Amino acid sequence: MGKALIIGCGGVGQVAIHKCVQNSEVFEEICIASRTKSKCDELKEKLDGRGTKITTAQVDADNVDELIALIEEVKPDIVMNLALPYQDLTIMDACLATKTHYLDTANYEPEDTAKFEYKWQWDYRERFEKAGITAILGSGFDPGVTGVFSAHAIKHHFDEIEYIDILDCNAGDHGYPFATNFNPEINIREVSAKGRYWENGEWVETEPMEIKRVYDFPEIGEKDMYLLYHEELESLAVNIPGLKRIRFFMTFGESYLTHLKCLENVGMTSIEPIQFEGKEIIPLQFLKAVLPDPASLGPRTKGKTNIGCIFRGKKDGKDKTYYVYNVCDHEACYREVGSQAVSYTTGVPAMIGAMMVLTGKWNKPGVYNVEEMDPDPFMEALNKWGLPWQEDFNPVPVDNTTAREAE
Ligand code: NDP
Repeated sequence: MGKALIIGCGGVGQVAIHKCVQNSEVFEEICIASRTKSKCDELKEKLDGRGTKITTAQVDADNVDELIALIEEVKPDIVMNLALPYQDLTIMDACLATKTHYLDTANYEPEDTAKFEYKWQWDYRERFEKAGITAILGSGFDPGVTGVFSAHAIKHHFDEIEYIDILDCNAGDHGYPFATNFNPEINIREVSAKGRYWENGEWVETEPMEIKRVYDFPEIGEKDMYLLYHEELESLAVNIPGLKRIRFFMTFGESYLTHLKCLENVGMTSIEPIQFEGKEIIPLQFLKAVLPDPASLGPRTKGKTNIGCIFRGKKDGKDKTYYVYNVCDHEACYREVGSQAVSYTTGVPAMIGAMMVLTGKWNKPGVYNVEEMDPDPFMEALNKWGLPWQEDFNPVPVDNTTAREAE
């Protein structure tokens, strides 16, 4: 049915590529392109002969001309950007120049300022519309499935949603005192930033990790979770009409937070360049180089993830609460595709989002966040492709749990 050019062959990219190959009816052909071509070649070798025709290429996704040349050579129907958020705009520019559909899993963030915002990508709306091509922003789990869950909730369960709490729990244990489950640089930038949530039309800022709650997660049990700013808050606050508050919580263990604090205190998480032995280096990038590669955590990680959304609102004039979530097992993911659940829960929705575009279900010229599209075929595909969802119509709301604010 179609051909995808997949840029990036890291933790997330490798899962998405496995899933595209499992779905070879839709992904008849893929080209895997990344900075380090050997990773693409290794994966091609593993997956060749399973139905999807695979080619590989080297590309610097910071360079628009190189990207245009590659797209013109490969002639894909869609470009799946599974590199880093820094490359979003160059890849979108190349898609515009070649009139090719675009999809990513994380919103643009300038490399020199730890601030992600949709404004840069939303700026492309008119140009994508005029070019007759679709851009799907944030088709991972969060953002991604959390937006689809929201669209599903408003379509099938509520007349009005007033409150959304997104809960991201990773109870996986990789046995290292400190490692990040996806790109360490992106992960540390995210968790060391100030917290923020949206209430009554305004953003409320908190200190990093200031707000802590304990939640009893289905199939996992009680975990400490902390309020963070997360990018889907920005788009959902706009796209869910009548919303009064939206927050995002992520679980962290004590060891992770103690290490992070220490690294912060000694300056290792800084993105300000410093001089080291006559060379300019960025401490956070150096730290990334010494930490375990997230793609290597797969064989060591045990336990489960549970990511979902608790909605509160009105249906037929009555108050209603609804929790929809997915539980994913690290070891089961590893057995299936050789990666842990954090990469799996992002790579599967990336494949599904691209499938939505290639099959014409989400094919609408312009730039869209996932919640702006019909959730039904995506929800069905989640069940089919490895991320089944579960529902609870009487969940414990976050604010009824032990409310312990961190000092
Ligand atoms: P990795 O660091 O494991 O992989 C990134 C890949 O992109 C690597 O293959 C890397 O190449 C390649 N790359 C980086 N820069 C360039 C460049 N300039 N040109 C070409 N290729 C490049 O990251 P992850 O797989 O963990 O994350 C991928 C994306 O997914 C990130 O944007 C991340 O923010 C997002 N994400 C989204 C989630 C969600 O739920 N929505 C959750 C987790 C991640 P090389 O091998 O040479 O380094």
